[in-house]
Amino acid sequence: MTARIVIIGGGQAGGWAAKTLRDKGWQGEIAIVADEPWDFYERPPLSKAALLDDEPLLPRLFSEEVQQGLNLTWHRPQRAESIDPQARTVTLDSGERLAYDQLLIATGGSARLPGPHWADHPQVYTLRHWQDACRLKARLRDGLRLGIVGGGWIGLEIAASARARGAAVTIFEQQPALCMRSVGPEVSAYLQTLHQQQGADVRCGCGAIELEDSGGQPVIYCDGVREIFDAVVVGIGVDLNLALARQAGLRVECGIVVDPRGRTSDPHIFAAGDVAQHPQFGVCIQSWAFAQNQAVATAKTMLDAAAPGYDEIPWLWSDQYQNNIQILGIPDPESRMIVRHDAKGPLFFSLAPDGRLRQLVAFNDARTVKLAKRWMAAGRDLRDAPLGDPQFSLMSLR
Ligand SMILES: Cc1cc2nc3c(=O)[nH]c(=O)nc-3n(C[C@H](O)[C@H](O)[C@H](O)COP(=O)(O)OP(=O)(O)OC[C@H]3O[C@@H](n4cnc5c(N)ncnc54)[C@H](O)[C@@H]3O)c2cc1C
Repeated sequence: MTARIVIIGGGQAGGWAAKTLRDKGWQGEIAIVADEPWDFYERPPLSKAALLDDEPLLPRLFSEEVQQGLNLTWHRPQRAESIDPQARTVTLDSGERLAYDQLLIATGGSARLPGPHWADHPQVYTLRHWQDACRLKARLRDGLRLGIVGGGWIGLEIAASARARGAAVTIFEQQPALCMRSVGPEVSAYLQTLHQQQGADVRCGCGAIELEDSGGQPVIYCDGVREIFDAVVVGIGVDLNLALARQAGLRVECGIVVDPRGRTSDPHIFAAGDVAQHPQFGVCIQSWAFAQNQAVATAKTMLDAAAPGYDEIPWLWSDQYQNNIQILGIPDPESRMIVRHDAKGPLFFSLAPDGRLRQLVAFNDARTVKLAKRWMAAGRDLRDAPLGDPQFSLMSLR
């Protein structure tokens, strides 16, 4: 019998794992169980180009030719329903059972809603899949009154795209500040000003948010006020698709616990992408770079246990209006914030008491992000560097 690797999830992590397995010489079968009907595609454009371009195309991970060359056995659209780690099989919703030699779980997450009845309203939208983007895009137009529930990265990107298409945007955030879980208060305040300057109405700290209906139009009730919209988009984060991992008895914390090689608590099962917890930082990163690079590292170690594992510092980016925002590292409440205002945009350095850089949030400055990666990897002490002085050359710290 031919050896078989089964990958559950046809998203970014699943796609990169499959490609890496072939690139590294795996000649056995690669079976992909995917509940979406599409070829592998990337999600970041869904809140950007897919909403802005007149005729957006599926943002495929690989060209048709490259994907054909991977010689994959697709099971789609089909869901993996359960895993039997003893028998080493995956059962699909069709009833078919697939035996595996090694299994990769790359099931990503599902858009969260504040309550189950939100899904029933025809003018409530979420944004996780290609068809979500097509549906929302078809609705965006000049003068549309759009309520956005959730002031995180996805909500803010949708706000920026909707403003560019002429919609009147109101952002509702329960927490006192935007993107509070991933950046410090100075960055949150800057983001709020940015959106207000672009004409968005930003309501932070608005407490419980309820959905009501007025003749088919969604109504947001919050802070004792009712407001009618033409459409409402919810961007309050995702529920990671961890049910299979839990059912299989794998160790799960905020995500599936993996080592730097992507190995779970079962020696034949690996995990990659959003569902995998960062092996060093112990958090779930949910970023394009993690989904790609951790999946690549995992696929390599599935074939060669001596391959180097994944050790990258968390990094993600967001595009809003004319700004490319890059976030390197994770926030640390013990850190001191140093803000530098350069002509291209601000830089927010978060320094630990020992002078190590914990996080950098950079507006339109990929060069400094690259440099900061090196400072972080080397554990450089930056206490004496005048980081906030725009006259000081950061490149002198190379
Ligand atoms: C709108 C949007 C914008 C984003 N923008 C950025 C950005 O600007 N920068 C950035 O760094 N990151 C961004 N991200 C995050 C990034 O896209 C994700 O981190 C990445 O897609 C995760 O890849 P993944 O393969 O782990 O999961 P996914 O891409 O979610 O793929 C998982 C796949 O598995 C399928 N699946 C789930 N359960 C099963 C099952 N039981 N059986 C079969 N199939 C199953 C899912 O339907 C899905 O197709 C964005 C995400 C979204 C949604």
